[in-house]
Amino acid sequence: KIQMGYAREDVIAGLCKAVATNYLNNVGKGKKINAPVVFQGGVSKNVGVVHFFEEALGCEVTVDADGHLMGAFGAALLAAGTPEQDLRPFEFDIDDFEFKTREIICQKCPNHCEIVCVYRDDDLIDSWGNRCDKGALKAKRK
Ligand code: SF4
Repeated sequence: KIQMGYAREDVIAGLCKAVATNYLNNVGKGKKINAPVVFQGGVSKNVGVVHFFEEALGCEVTVDADGHLMGAFGAALLAAGTPEQDLRPFEFDIDDFEFKTREIICQKCPNHCEIVCVYRDDDLIDSWGNRCDKGALKAKRK
């Protein structure tokens, strides 16, 4: 888009809007919201994404100053409530795995959803982008 002459701020705004829209479509799945909205995680620090969430939802979105730390906080709470014998160290070397992504187009209806697939070695471990369960891919759980 930059090469086609679009303004940098318009391209960035489009990316921020896409993040909010993808989340609402793929995770929110069109659910109606009738409660205060709190946005957390690292992306909540992106004021552009917050703006497009508020625009799409038609309400204020609350972002806590420490919201980017909530994942670590949750993991610490889980660990604190887990018996010590269950806290075995999970050791691995990242070089032991090969991660790849591949995009496929679902052909099961005219929407032709773009589904992003993530593989660890040759095993599908996650996918997203399908707008319905017909396009869902089964990830291998270990
Ligand atoms: S995932 Fe669902 S909505 Fe998307 S193309 Fe496949 S069947 Fe259609």
